[in-house]
Amino acid sequence: MRRKAQRSHSHFYDRCAHWSFSRTAGAEPIRWNRERWILAGTAFLIVVLSALVIPAWAGAMKKPGSVPLVHAVVPLTLPKLDPETVKPLVAAEDWQTVQVQPGQTLSDIFQGQGLTLTDLQHAIDGAGNARAFHQIKPGQEFQFLLGENKSLLGVRFDQDEASIATLRLDGAKPELTTQSRDVQRREHIAHGVIDSSLFGAASKAGMSNAMVLKLAEVFKFDIDFVQDLRVGDNFTVIYDDIYRDGAYAREGDIVAAEFINQGKRYTAYRFKNSDGKYSYFSEEGRPLTGSFLRIPVDFTRISSQFSAGRMHPILGKMRAHKGVDYAAPSGTPIHAAGDGVVKFRGWMNGYGNFVVIQHNATISTAYGHMSRFANLRVGQRVTQGSTIGYVGMTGLATGPHLHYEFRVNNAQRDPQTVTLPKPEPLPAAQLAKFKSEVVKPQLARLTQVDSSVKLARAKSDTRSDD
Ligand SMILES: [Zn+2]
Repeated sequence: MRRKAQRSHSHFYDRCAHWSFSRTAGAEPIRWNRERWILAGTAFLIVVLSALVIPAWAGAMKKPGSVPLVHAVVPLTLPKLDPETVKPLVAAEDWQTVQVQPGQTLSDIFQGQGLTLTDLQHAIDGAGNARAFHQIKPGQEFQFLLGENKSLLGVRFDQDEASIATLRLDGAKPELTTQSRDVQRREHIAHGVIDSSLFGAASKAGMSNAMVLKLAEVFKFDIDFVQDLRVGDNFTVIYDDIYRDGAYAREGDIVAAEFINQGKRYTAYRFKNSDGKYSYFSEEGRPLTGSFLRIPVDFTRISSQFSAGRMHPILGKMRAHKGVDYAAPSGTPIHAAGDGVVKFRGWMNGYGNFVVIQHNATISTAYGHMSRFANLRVGQRVTQGSTIGYVGMTGLATGPHLHYEFRVNNAQRDPQTVTLPKPEPLPAAQLAKFKSEVVKPQLARLTQVDSSVKLARAKSDTRSDD
């Protein structure tokens, strides 16, 4: 009998093992077997017993001689509600939260809620110029309030990092309100020593892969992270953790960092320059960005070098090649090599779709054979790294590639070897502000970590001597 009980018991758990919270599961009829009858019976018994026992126990606890409670019904006159000023009480609203997944578009998200593109248009119109609707990012959240028949009553979205907006569409006209959120930045210090890889060391220090990439980005003009890293290299990074309404929201930016590579110390401090943009500077106030990207596209191979004379593949005669050809799949974004102004955008003979950017009085860069242009007009300012167009093979080209030229006083120079101008250092007034407001406090924290690490190492050394 015990074995039989065990068997039915194990059958019970076998069935449980297949349970899942799938939508179709609800369609299966519930089968009442003996096990369930016993459980249900026991539960029922407990309910009945507690209903009987609790009042009896409460009665027994009552002190003898205490004044009996008198219950009376007193009629209360309710104040008259003015329907103009008081909105009827609505049951707690059921806002559905949706998180943007990689690759999703706004219309995917709206359609996922059973909404139409007209609803999306109403939301965009009602939200005004909200960034949430113009630049959606994975991880970003929208909340929807839906009525009967999937009508859109409201949308909530992040207006910016510090405020959340509610757009009501259930009134006579759309109503947009914003509520500020409590945003806190808490600085976080991580220190790592490379024993096999940068990612390994960073992971041991509790840093995410995204933060490692930020660190590599900050130092990319000083350290070649593919070739130069050695065992024993170490780094200390101070970065922001961002909390919203008391809850951790995301990793912020690097505030300060120190990287010891092959014994040489590199530093980076984030500073808001006079133009209002944040960028990184070394302890001495030298910008860590290069003034030009050496290569303005993610290329697969160099298909043709700069040369004074080569056989032209289409024209079939000797001709100088005054640029470098970077082969890349059609549609690969092409980036502005430096800050500047668009001087030309259009069709130019063999160059096909062609863009020229003027960077300063003497230097310009040129980009040919684009399949199409980015949203760009002549006279527009572009910043280093911004997308200006896409790789193609318009004009005289045998395959998709970027033809890139670096021009000094309108004469082409080899982009691979030309000496790139150094970026402008901070002017004196800015430098003083940078040193006192950024370097001084952050350097104190970086060195504090350094000395505590050295102390810990020294201690472990003396222990191993024992
Ligand atoms: Zn070329």
